[in-house]
Amino acid sequence: MWGNTGRIIDIDLTTGAVDIFSPPESYYRKYIGGSGLAAKLFWERGDFSADPLSPEALLIFTLGPFAGLRLSGASRGCAAGCSPLTGHWGDSSCGGYFAPELRYAGYDGIMIKGKSDRPTLITIFDEEIQLKSAKEYWGKDILETTASLRKEYGRDSRMLAIGPAGENLVRYASILNEGHHAFGRAGFGAVMGSKNLKAIVVRGTRRELMLRDAYSFNNLRRELNKKIKEALPSTVLHENGTAANLEGGVHTGDVPVRNFQSNFWEEMAEALTGSTLTEKYLTNHGQCAFCGVACKRVVEIKEGPFAVPKGPGPEYETIVAFGSLLGSMDLAATCKAGRLCNEFGMDTITAGCTIAWATEAFKKGALTLDDTEGMSLEWGDMHTVIDSLLPMIAYRRGNLGRLLADGSVAASLILGKGSEKYVVHSKGLEVPMHDPRGGGHGLALAYAISHRGACHVAYPMLFMEMGACYYPEIDFEYELEPMTEEYKAETGCIAVALGSIENSACYCQFADREISVPEWVGLFNTVAGYNWDVDDMMRAGRRVFYLHRLLNHRYGLSASDDCVSERLLQPAVDGAPEGIEIRFTGMKDKFYQLMGLDPDKGIPSKQVLVEHDMAEEFGKLESTLKS
Ligand code: SF4
Repeated sequence: MWGNTGRIIDIDLTTGAVDIFSPPESYYRKYIGGSGLAAKLFWERGDFSADPLSPEALLIFTLGPFAGLRLSGASRGCAAGCSPLTGHWGDSSCGGYFAPELRYAGYDGIMIKGKSDRPTLITIFDEEIQLKSAKEYWGKDILETTASLRKEYGRDSRMLAIGPAGENLVRYASILNEGHHAFGRAGFGAVMGSKNLKAIVVRGTRRELMLRDAYSFNNLRRELNKKIKEALPSTVLHENGTAANLEGGVHTGDVPVRNFQSNFWEEMAEALTGSTLTEKYLTNHGQCAFCGVACKRVVEIKEGPFAVPKGPGPEYETIVAFGSLLGSMDLAATCKAGRLCNEFGMDTITAGCTIAWATEAFKKGALTLDDTEGMSLEWGDMHTVIDSLLPMIAYRRGNLGRLLADGSVAASLILGKGSEKYVVHSKGLEVPMHDPRGGGHGLALAYAISHRGACHVAYPMLFMEMGACYYPEIDFEYELEPMTEEYKAETGCIAVALGSIENSACYCQFADREISVPEWVGLFNTVAGYNWDVDDMMRAGRRVFYLHRLLNHRYGLSASDDCVSERLLQPAVDGAPEGIEIRFTGMKDKFYQLMGLDPDKGIPSKQVLVEHDMAEEFGKLESTLKS
């Protein structure tokens, strides 16, 4: 096997058994790696009836074929399984340094089931894989845990860890690498916590990887690294981070304000935008392994109520989730709230959205002082968010902490009183910080059809509507107008294939916009030797998309779940998109038709599956549904 190692660590925490599983080569060729490979592994080995926080639940980490190859943007990894937040198939992507190190240790992933009877740590040093006591780390936050593990296992070790939120089964708990890079979405930190698994430490020595055509790959790698680093968007991202265009987004109506009730807040634009963060608090640029973009932020706030020591700083999603979404334009508070989420191990998007939901519910009388034990929730009150709400959630303290720890959808179902109307989500996952009413109507479609729920990086629709993509080889030549539905279904068909390729190759969407379609094909062929042409690659992308549909079908989802909250479909009340309606149903129907999806079940027909070399998967679906 080329590129990949063909070896996946298989751990049962209940029995302590550690094995190596070698998937058939076809798993890689058909499903690439990352998101696709994890889906195939779960399809074959997962228990669909298992509660996501039970010992039977299977947690999977997978790499892409390019991990460790010194390519800008290719150092991400995937965590996947049944999401404890949504109750269906989910996956999450994380940059940083863990993925290359796991590849250097000789593996393409880790599958973990069972539950340890005590806090546990997995160490992976090449062939030596051990389960050790994590008693001394349990209860510590992620930054402390990471620092202690680094001291114990050396500076060359890389680690994933959970914090108190994961230990306390907060359903949107994250897993962090090096205390900075997060598997944020879908709650896999809680899955680790439910298994008593505190951390995974890895160190590998096999830095020479076997490639099909190393000479051609190295030429391509040099060209791509240069192209990615020198591209204008990369320079902007390096200078001002992923919030570089926040100010522009405010003027198009993309940036949500007060729980998506408004699409415009002029004064906030300059206060929260990336250049302001750079000017006021940036001390260093951070990066994922081998990335020439280096878009990450390292910040320090020396004084004031929201002072934070030098360390990981917020990116766009965190700035908005703890900024305008909560009615605040205090940039220091976003840094502090983001840092707390890193320490506790919580997804900043779901945390911000859940607090925004609670604030609106309080302001409109659905949540009362009795429910909050006397605490008032006000827009822009970041002291309450930082000093009270985030710690209460992470430790599940009090009625309110327990209510909010399950996310906004579950909380609204418990509270009732019309508070369901204030939840903004798709398939149980809170919407990220791009409002399709101002960001682009195709984004509503992308949120709705995403397997994990509302996600802006499952597919590159946001970038495509922004005009940041140029792919004439696959007939993506539409001049898209963001605020209409025109060509969005057609674009969606390309986006689901490309997004599935990116997330299965574990490539960063901020870096890979510069990679042309023929260059993508060249990467797969020189590294893995697939001899693909453009059609083969796009078919692989669609295959991953279809498998995600089948997985969610097994979890009971159907076409009616491909939707977004009503709030996003109501015309905006202010800003650039004021009064413009998203014509969602037409986009979705056309997308279904073009992708060959059943209008009720939401899954592809047998014919479509056979055309995508998925007869085996269809057979398994039929036999499981009959039994
Ligand atoms: S662009 Fe930013 S997030 Fe993406 S790989 Fe590079 S440093 Fe990491």
